[in-house]
Amino acid sequence: MSLKPPTCLDDYDTESITVDIALERIQNTLKPIQGYEQVAIRSALGRVLATDIYSALNVPAYPNSAMDGYAVRGEDLPIVGIASLQIIGSSFAGHPFEHEVLTGQCVRIFTGGVLPEGTDTVIMQEHVEVEGKTIRIHAGENRAGQFISHVGEDVKIGQRILNRGRQLTAADIGLLASLGIPEVQVVRRLRVAFFSTGDELNTLGEPLSIGQIYDSNRYTLYSMLVQLGVDVIDLGVIRDKPDVVERAFLQAAQQSDVIITSGGVSVGEADFVVETLRRIGEVNFWKVAMKPGRPLTFGRIQQALFFGLPGNPVSVMVSFYAFLQPALWQLMGMSPPFRLQLRVPCITPLKKLAGRTEFQRGILEYNAEGRLQVRSTGKQSSSILSSMSQANCFIILPMECTEVRAGDEVTVEPLPHINMSHLISPI
Ligand code: AMP
Ligand code: MG
Repeated sequence: MSLKPPTCLDDYDTESITVDIALERIQNTLKPIQGYEQVAIRSALGRVLATDIYSALNVPAYPNSAMDGYAVRGEDLPIVGIASLQIIGSSFAGHPFEHEVLTGQCVRIFTGGVLPEGTDTVIMQEHVEVEGKTIRIHAGENRAGQFISHVGEDVKIGQRILNRGRQLTAADIGLLASLGIPEVQVVRRLRVAFFSTGDELNTLGEPLSIGQIYDSNRYTLYSMLVQLGVDVIDLGVIRDKPDVVERAFLQAAQQSDVIITSGGVSVGEADFVVETLRRIGEVNFWKVAMKPGRPLTFGRIQQALFFGLPGNPVSVMVSFYAFLQPALWQLMGMSPPFRLQLRVPCITPLKKLAGRTEFQRGILEYNAEGRLQVRSTGKQSSSILSSMSQANCFIILPMECTEVRAGDEVTVEPLPHINMSHLISPI
């Protein structure tokens, strides 16, 4: 679709590129960072594996019981009537029974206990009658081979269990521990420098003079970056003066892999970001056909990638989730993550102009019948940060869409901070 100048009837703009093209351009520019470190698995949560991990063990390493009961020989199970077996010992987790179990015999066994030699079957304690040192088993209630955890049924020796590029989860850390692996090699942390621009920005704790606002973007950005697991370098607020902006950019390029700014990317008199980037670096693109967040600048200063986000607080979050998050994942050496998008009915009628992809703020919820639906948070101005706080998803409306009627299906993407308990079905 060719983009044309926006009119009052639509929102097309020749200077903007589409969201997909912007994503592709970013993706084609990035190379995962080099540099690795060895960390203890307790410190590895959220880190990205630098190597594939193979198992040097079978898990479990020996056959063991999945139940509390009696270990028996499968051939001793009665086909008809009742079998009586003599209890000759016990096998606790950590305290195996050391002798062979012969026909007509059995061993008291507990969950995780090693299966004694000669046995291949566990009978649940609820399914036997115990009389002193004898158990009685009825025909038809049991199957030879039951309730055994077999050698290597979880992980086999030599098996690749985790791939390079994986961002480690709690389950992965446990899995590594189950294989006796104390440390892993991970990609070094990405260094991300960020600052706000604007003469109107005031510091928290100071009273606001007329025309001033508090700098919320630096706090939102800080939190989103921390959640991604990068090293954050907060460079504060820079004022709207070209030489100050230039100095700050050069300083940031010295210390970081990625520079993020907010504000100063519109075409106003005090918007020096794009101009400065052109002068001391490279601009790849500076406008994306999206709402909010059209004036998004992407480029480079020396070896550091540069993302100039718009100043409006909602635009900052939308641009971050739409572009920065996937870009940072790629730089961190992560395999492309699964991006959950759902098609659900929207119960609020929505309107927009054709020409831009919109990321409206929505609340994804279950209705009384237990079906997922989405509703709008209300006013969608890019300055209304409370809409982001209320939202748990974006409602993504394609460029050409102009209207959603109540009940029409829309695409939603849950936000990373979504509280899943909001999604639990009432029935
Ligand atoms: P700009 O892109 O600099 O023209 O800013 C667009 C709007 O976002 C203006 O209303 C700014 O006051 C506001 N804004 C810019 N930076 C911040 C910030 N760090 N925190 C909150 N609002 C901001
Ligand atoms: Mg500004």
